[in-house]
Amino acid sequence: MTDSIKTNKVWQQDKNHFIHPYTDFSTFHEEGSQVITKAKGNFVSDSQGNTFLDGIAGLWCVNIGHGREDMADAIYKQITQMQYFNPFGHSTNAPAAELAAEIAKRTPGDLNHVFFTSGGSVSNDSAFRIIHYYNNLRGKTTKKKIISRDSAYHGSTYFAANLTGIQATKSSFDSLGDELISYVSAADMYRRPIGAEQLTEDEYACFLANELENHILRLGADNVAAFILEPVMGAGGVLVAPKGYHKKCADICRKYDVLIVADEVVTAFGRLGQWFSSEAVFDFVPDVLITAKGINSGYIPLGATIISADIYRVISQPQCEGGVFSMGFTYSGHATACAAALKNFEILEQESLFDNVNKLGPYLQQTASEMLLTNSIVGDVRGTGFMLAIDLVSNKQTKERLYLAQQVFEKCLEKGLIIRPVGNVIVISPPLTLTRDNIDSLISKLKEAIDEVSSEMILGDNI
Ligand code: PMP
Repeated sequence: MTDSIKTNKVWQQDKNHFIHPYTDFSTFHEEGSQVITKAKGNFVSDSQGNTFLDGIAGLWCVNIGHGREDMADAIYKQITQMQYFNPFGHSTNAPAAELAAEIAKRTPGDLNHVFFTSGGSVSNDSAFRIIHYYNNLRGKTTKKKIISRDSAYHGSTYFAANLTGIQATKSSFDSLGDELISYVSAADMYRRPIGAEQLTEDEYACFLANELENHILRLGADNVAAFILEPVMGAGGVLVAPKGYHKKCADICRKYDVLIVADEVVTAFGRLGQWFSSEAVFDFVPDVLITAKGINSGYIPLGATIISADIYRVISQPQCEGGVFSMGFTYSGHATACAAALKNFEILEQESLFDNVNKLGPYLQQTASEMLLTNSIVGDVRGTGFMLAIDLVSNKQTKERLYLAQQVFEKCLEKGLIIRPVGNVIVISPPLTLTRDNIDSLISKLKEAIDEVSSEMILGDNI
């Protein structure tokens, strides 16, 4: 941050009044914010005139790239036609109806019914409200408990924050308690639980699936409503599960009448080269699928809770005990947000962006491994598709976490690259429009930044 920014009006207004998500107030009060003023394609610029390659697609969401005029035209057209009217009861609008149908065409299994929200957290909250309601209506009134995973990220509303297994996000906040929500191990190939270190990939998948089964049995299957998982854990450090893990977990859930909820807020709409990754990449069909972010590439807030035909049949029975289905938001099925999603779908298809991920994803992963693993503070480089993480360690043998991702982030900024620091992990989740040249530039800037941080650390140690 330069001193000249302190005279910037936006910088001052922001510092005095805008409460930012996930902010470190120990530095914010002095440093304030970087003001992002322009965004085009795979790049964004700030008020100081600096331009950055966007290595995180805004926040895992701007899949088609920034500042697109075709999106602006679609949004303008919808606003001037009919920007918003509530969809409560029997009222609807064309973009919401069409988008629900377009989603149903692409979802796995019979996930044919879409409840629209305004984001990922709210979609998760909605899923569990619907699941409990569904169980009440089918007479399974004790089935309430939810199993999540350590290191999972499911959002920041009260309920979604409790589904979240990242402990660092919870300190000093209240919790709903483990009566309702409990956790099993993350499917972490790099740092495995005790007893699983030497297992083959398949044995490890069985180990984790057994843990889930034992957990369900301990809670009592009659008390367990659902198991929630991100197909690839995102904010928890881009954890790619051992092969076969998802299918094994899904089979166990079916055995005990436990619904499986796939939180695809990050992994849908092309980030892994498919519309949805649960079935296409990981070979399981969830009962409920959660999306947001890439659904309209973040141009207007939108999320969706997508439910199976069976759940829909139960909750929509005429004259069922529940009476009127009494949940919904002012912005459920927001016409303009849905119109943006329809245009986003068209762009994803017309520009073959999933092909781009399928072609360049392996190149991104391989280049990152080759260039970065040589550094003594890089313990692991992992990912799939356009999700990548670099795990910083102080010792490659013990895998002890090295919390220097923030320092790497700052070095990257100086070099014109934005990455996401999460404790000891650097996360990359670029727009799907990324080119091969962009990848080369991204990895070489990142390498320089990590090299500088590690040599400063070694120098610091020597002083
Ligand atoms: N689920 C996952 C997997 C996410 O990554 C996120 C956000 N990063 C959420 C839920 C929450 O979404 P939102 O911030 O839109 O509420």
